[in-house]
Amino acid sequence: MRRGMIFRMRKRPKELSRVRLRIALCACVGLLISLLTAFVPAIFGNVDYVGFEDPLYTVENPDPPQYLHGLIPEFRTAVWCAPSVPQYRWQNWFDSSIAFHEYYYGMRYNEWDLEVHGEIPPSFMIRRGSYGFPFQCMYADEVAVANGGAPYTMTFFDRVRARSGLREGVLVSGLNAPMVQRILPLAPHWGGLMLNTLIYGGGLGAFFVLPVLITRVRRIRNGLCLVCGYAIEDLDVCPECGQTTRDHAAA
Ligand SMILES: [Zn+2]
Repeated sequence: MRRGMIFRMRKRPKELSRVRLRIALCACVGLLISLLTAFVPAIFGNVDYVGFEDPLYTVENPDPPQYLHGLIPEFRTAVWCAPSVPQYRWQNWFDSSIAFHEYYYGMRYNEWDLEVHGEIPPSFMIRRGSYGFPFQCMYADEVAVANGGAPYTMTFFDRVRARSGLREGVLVSGLNAPMVQRILPLAPHWGGLMLNTLIYGGGLGAFFVLPVLITRVRRIRNGLCLVCGYAIEDLDVCPECGQTTRDHAAA
């Protein structure tokens, strides 16, 4: 039964391509929706920055930004990271769609000996804003100089920004809250983006693909015309609606 079904399905690539088209459309719309769950709060959300609860509060972050590593020898890792998940709010709901983390490079706890290493090393802060629902799927990094913009530091600043590239996103200013910089996040959190796309695309698929698929499989099993449901048995053309059931290229 099952082998026969697969055999028959192979003979009907045209009909199946419509199902594939629907699956592809659901995946595209699912991706678009997950992008919107990041873009809308990033650009239009009434984000209220109330600061960090405790500026000395740090966490062991398992996933600090990697792209500054090696730029300056002492930038082996972000030396500390401040989470600010509940401090940024989008109208007090939908909070999980926004998270901010600040990563500091070349600052506190840095083993730096002025006499041995010379001038105080440049230090930078990356403030990463992540957006998306239910999983954060896009982020934008703001790069800031942390130690007063000394000339020595500024020579590194351009290199830091060159490395950050698209991760800085696109500045969209003053759309809704002129006091807050609006940045369109362009860098993906791949895991979150895939999960969100699966969730939204799968939800759409349950409505737009599954019923069609069930009908088609049932008609194929029972030897019915895929278009009108007429019992065609082994005929090449449906006598009811004229649908060709054989693949011309394969014949
Ligand atoms: Zn038919």
